[in-house]
Amino acid sequence: MADSKITAEQALHRLMEGNRKFCSEHYDVHPTVKEIESLVDGQHPYAAIVSCSDSRVPPNEVFDCDLGEIFVVRTAGNVVSDFELGSIEYAVEHLGTPLIMVLGHNNCGAVAGAYEWTGGKGALASIMEEVMPSVARAREKASNMEEIISLAEIYNIDNSVNRLMESEILRNMPAGSIVGAKYDIHSGAVELL
Ligand SMILES: [Zn+2]
Repeated sequence: MADSKITAEQALHRLMEGNRKFCSEHYDVHPTVKEIESLVDGQHPYAAIVSCSDSRVPPNEVFDCDLGEIFVVRTAGNVVSDFELGSIEYAVEHLGTPLIMVLGHNNCGAVAGAYEWTGGKGALASIMEEVMPSVARAREKASNMEEIISLAEIYNIDNSVNRLMESEILRNMPAGSIVGAKYDIHSGAVELL
């Protein structure tokens, strides 16, 4: 169940243990909801996660979490703007969440989209513009498309971590409270960056 009286390190350990379970053969893809009554009076999630909206990367399942355990914000390409930042600040300030994770993944459509983006209408453009500097940075380090996108996925996770650090509230959290991680859609494993 959720418990806010744990350190960022302990919270990270719980998440990674959950992911190991998720990767095991015996994992039940529909975890039972336990102690739901205890959540009626409030929530104390031990981790806040900014993840990609990609349907293959659901944080609750990936970390084997029940209701009340993690506070989740999802956007295409796990990008962070004011609404996302405000949501995470809320988790930290009002819910006492000790750990924040930005969870990107491989085969990310938002990053691949930014690689090919030549401009377009609609609000999607603002997401592409947020991801494109990471692609540009990756182009300087790698030569083929696959390598560029893979590297850009990591830079894009770093970029969102940096966006979170722009918040005075989040910046002043203890060291190790904000981490970047990448989910492998082939194995289900999460790797800390
Ligand atoms: Zn994605």
